[in-house]
Amino acid sequence: MKKAIVIGAGYAGISAASFLAKAGWDVTVLEKLSGPGGRARNFKADGFTFDMGPSWYWMPDVFERYFNCFGKKVSDYYQLTRLDPSYRVYWPEGSSTDLPSQYPQLKETFESIEPGAGKMLDKFMKEAAYKYEVGIGKLVFKPARSLTEYMEWDVLKGILKMDVFSNMKKHIHRFFKNPKLRQLLEFPVLFLGALPKDIPALYSLMNYADIKFGTWYPHKGMYEIADGMYRLAVEQGVKFCFNANVTSLDITNGNITGVHTEDGKSYAADVVIGAADYAFIDRNLLPEKYHQYSEKYWDSRVMAPSCLLYYVGVNKRLQNIKHHSLFFDTDFNVHGSEIYESKTWPKEPLFYTCAPSVTDSTVAPAGCENLFFLIPVSSGLTGDTEELRESYFQKILARFEEKTGNNLKENIIYKRSYAVSDFEKDYHSFKGNAYGLANTLLQTAILKPRCRSSKINNLFYTGQLTVPGPGLPPSLISGEVVSNLVQKVCR
Ligand SMILES: Cc1cc2nc3c(=O)[nH]c(=O)nc-3n(C[C@H](O)[C@H](O)[C@H](O)COP(=O)(O)OP(=O)(O)OC[C@H]3O[C@@H](n4cnc5c(N)ncnc54)[C@H](O)[C@@H]3O)c2cc1C
Repeated sequence: MKKAIVIGAGYAGISAASFLAKAGWDVTVLEKLSGPGGRARNFKADGFTFDMGPSWYWMPDVFERYFNCFGKKVSDYYQLTRLDPSYRVYWPEGSSTDLPSQYPQLKETFESIEPGAGKMLDKFMKEAAYKYEVGIGKLVFKPARSLTEYMEWDVLKGILKMDVFSNMKKHIHRFFKNPKLRQLLEFPVLFLGALPKDIPALYSLMNYADIKFGTWYPHKGMYEIADGMYRLAVEQGVKFCFNANVTSLDITNGNITGVHTEDGKSYAADVVIGAADYAFIDRNLLPEKYHQYSEKYWDSRVMAPSCLLYYVGVNKRLQNIKHHSLFFDTDFNVHGSEIYESKTWPKEPLFYTCAPSVTDSTVAPAGCENLFFLIPVSSGLTGDTEELRESYFQKILARFEEKTGNNLKENIIYKRSYAVSDFEKDYHSFKGNAYGLANTLLQTAILKPRCRSSKINNLFYTGQLTVPGPGLPPSLISGEVVSNLVQKVCR
């Protein structure tokens, strides 16, 4: 059996490992942390279970397909509930909008905000459906190593119809005038790590995912997904070594022959898949002559944001809150430019709150609420001291209290913050990014960091810094794409 070593047990690493094991490879995953999941892990404290990263379960079809590839179903590993409303948005003047999960009601909501917007939503969704079908059905499964992969006629025709060269801001403005509707439809693009004006309009497929397929929640929390993937991988024969921080690689005649971890262990390899942050492996584990990209290249990449996060336990139930709430009550243009242009700490940031205990009693002690606050900030920021974190927390807590009408300052019984420097320390994250590389036009498909090294024959990459991009569904797909490539070139 050929031996594959996978560095990193995030979604992409587990996915790549599982597909290779299914194809008959002897696969070992080396993970620096104490368990699987990477950025999507969780922790327990004082009776609360906090998901540390992702909280939005979108594109259930991609997860279902993943488990189906191994003859399993999502429901063999975790149980999903569709949320209704999908989420709530708070506006500057104090009002809020709930986004119903059912399309007819959503259309009514649009119509109530802008007469005629219901019909326009139909048109918008028709185009978005096509983009989803071609984008998620075909394009994301390409390793994007050369343009010829896109030369099949139906794919080419698809690309031409998919607004690759227009941007999301313009695209949405063509359909809707009301600033609230525009902002609602721009929101999913924030997952892609850049401003709507810099994201190809192809990504209205994200609106389709949001509106058509909905927002779901796995019972007991998002970590259930990583745990399910981990169990599936073990069933396929994948071996996992945790607390195994890869520190160096042996390279002989342009091939990696051994992988070494901090605890002094060594592993032989026919193939290595780098599923930790690409930039870390390229810059920190390889001698300079084997670097795939220069420092200048990495420094000029547009990174998706980092985050300031707060995991908060409250000793009472809160009134009138939803599972997901977006606080769009300050000027997004100012915050957006602080994230992507001036790259400074924001003055009045937008933020997001997830309250999974609204849906799931298992994630908080009885009578308590589990809250997760997220402020997107620029990657690469320094100085996330305790004082700075606390000052932002007080700022957003005051807004949360005012908008939702709950007082909770005196009821906080657990609080932990997490920020840019933690991403760097825990995940070896490049510039402390949370969501990888932004999906701008110049960082799409063949313009992304390549998923196979051109300097080392048996080194491949997967994860949110390579194809197809950031987010849980793309990371799952990334693992499958690279496993297919390995099987093709290393037969
Ligand atoms: C706060 C936050 C919120 C998010 N929200 C959402 C959401 O709601 N929905 C969504 O779809 N996506 C969301 N995302 C994005 C999603 O979590 C990521 O795109 C995805 O988890 C990335 O998976 P990955 O496998 O590429 O990387 P990772 O999960 O980072 O996995 C890489 C692994 O490599 C390990 N590693 C690093 N260096 C070494 C080494 N030297 N040796 C061994 N192991 C090493 C790391 O410890 C890590 O476990 C969010 C991300 C964050 C951070």
